[in-house]
Amino acid sequence: MSGDLLFDSATRARYAEAAGIYRFVPMGVVRPRDADDVAAVLGYASENAIPITARGAGSGMPGHNVGTGLVLDFTKYMNGIVEVDPRRRRARVQPGVVLETLNRSLATHGLHFAPDPGSGAYCTVGGMIANNAAGMRHLVRGATREHVRRLVAVLPSGRVLDTGEASRLARYAQRIGARHATALADERPHTAKNSSGYDLLGSLTRLFVGSEGTLGVIVEAEVDLVVRPSHRALALLGFDSLEAAGTFVVDVLALRPSAIEMMDRTLLDAYRAAKVKLPVKLPRSLEAVLLVEVEGRGSALVRDRIERVRSEAREAVVAHVGLDAEAQATLWQVRKAASPVLGQRTDGRRSLQFVEDGAVPIERLPEYVVRLRRIFEARRVPVAIFGHAGDAHLHVNPLLRPGAARFRRTIREIADDVNALLLEMHGTLTGEHGDGRSRAPYVERFFPRSMAAFREVKALFDPEGVLNPGVKIPLLGQRVAAHLRW
Ligand SMILES: Cc1cc2nc3c(=O)[nH]c(=O)nc-3n(C[C@H](O)[C@H](O)[C@H](O)COP(=O)(O)OP(=O)(O)OC[C@H]3O[C@@H](n4cnc5c(N)ncnc54)[C@H](O)[C@@H]3O)c2cc1C
Repeated sequence: MSGDLLFDSATRARYAEAAGIYRFVPMGVVRPRDADDVAAVLGYASENAIPITARGAGSGMPGHNVGTGLVLDFTKYMNGIVEVDPRRRRARVQPGVVLETLNRSLATHGLHFAPDPGSGAYCTVGGMIANNAAGMRHLVRGATREHVRRLVAVLPSGRVLDTGEASRLARYAQRIGARHATALADERPHTAKNSSGYDLLGSLTRLFVGSEGTLGVIVEAEVDLVVRPSHRALALLGFDSLEAAGTFVVDVLALRPSAIEMMDRTLLDAYRAAKVKLPVKLPRSLEAVLLVEVEGRGSALVRDRIERVRSEAREAVVAHVGLDAEAQATLWQVRKAASPVLGQRTDGRRSLQFVEDGAVPIERLPEYVVRLRRIFEARRVPVAIFGHAGDAHLHVNPLLRPGAARFRRTIREIADDVNALLLEMHGTLTGEHGDGRSRAPYVERFFPRSMAAFREVKALFDPEGVLNPGVKIPLLGQRVAAHLRW
């Protein structure tokens, strides 16, 4: 073992929490230097029934990056770019490489790794693969799953698996998928993106993407790269009604924008309360602001397309267009301020992530936003709703007072209501963040017939159940509001 083994209480406390609502103090932390270290730890953990949680930057929200056993942190040593092949537009990387670091080094070739989560400045490619992360430009770039060619993963036995090669495990996984193909196809969410459940209808590589460290631990990835777009333009549009904004999103998709982001009134009010300096004046009457981006080759083309977006937005009461890069960066601040502002509230309320990642079929977006709001109004809980409206995929952040009476119960009731709405609409529990621990108790409601396949595939790769137990597949009696950090 050449990596670090850390068992001191300060380190264990540091890794007990991540971006989400949970707290699990680990037994210890390992920072592996290579695949041999990972294999040694996994072999030992399997023999001794110790849970293993792989971890990148810890920016994942649903509690899949914390655990009671050993945490494997890939950011210190296994963070390199192994090889870049600009001609074939491919790169081989270690899991702990940060997305922005990778893209900075690819910029010299005019290439980049396409999925663009808002956490790109610190999240790792390993974490992105494990969650099937996506981002603001999913409309044109797709999710991580579409950009991963091959993975090298260590299994609990210590064995190293190359997902690009034929193997007995690949054959067995394929057979599980084939046996349950009808259920898996019938229960697939009718949404633009999905990170819930296991993707059992494709290759072994596709299955491992989005598996949240529950099937194997990734030690290397071969990914596809894409050419950077040459020109972009951006429109900021303000609406007096959430429904009108939702209807516009559905209509404007015909113009093939590269991103459509939404920010609701609660978020705009939070900006005002935090005295965020916004680049444009936003009247208090606004219920929602949209940022609509187009891209293409040539400034005339994108100017023409953004003008069409603006002229389609007849119900917008505010409209601003950014044509050059600087103006666009300024307008994007209206979206990028969301997480910092929600994270620094001073009124005792915390923005909590446990229903933060649902998505619905795009044609149901207007109805979805209205019904979401009603759920929170009925409980008198303020909620900030924002995110990837072009995919009908919204980050729903209830603002609750930790420790208040009925705190846990409110979390559970909100999760029950929001998840029931998603189910009724043929939506998904998670568009890009993963099921983690907060959604694991609900997965079976969305996949009642596919659940058997999910359990079989978990048992195939992790027969002792040491890899991230309670993530994706719930433990007996698992609940969304247990093991909270408050
Ligand atoms: C402000 C903010 C904005 C965000 N915006 C987006 C967004 O736009 N789109 C989006 O998709 N997500 C977003 N996220 C969520 C999160 O940042 C991403 O999903 C990201 O990909 C997680 O990467 P990470 O390195 O932080 O992984 P972690 O949080 O450390 O881990 C995430 C999962 O990956 C697993 N994992 C990590 N490394 C490995 C490995 N080597 N092998 C196997 N499993 C592994 C972990 O066990 C866990 O299940 C955002 C988060 C924040 C805080």
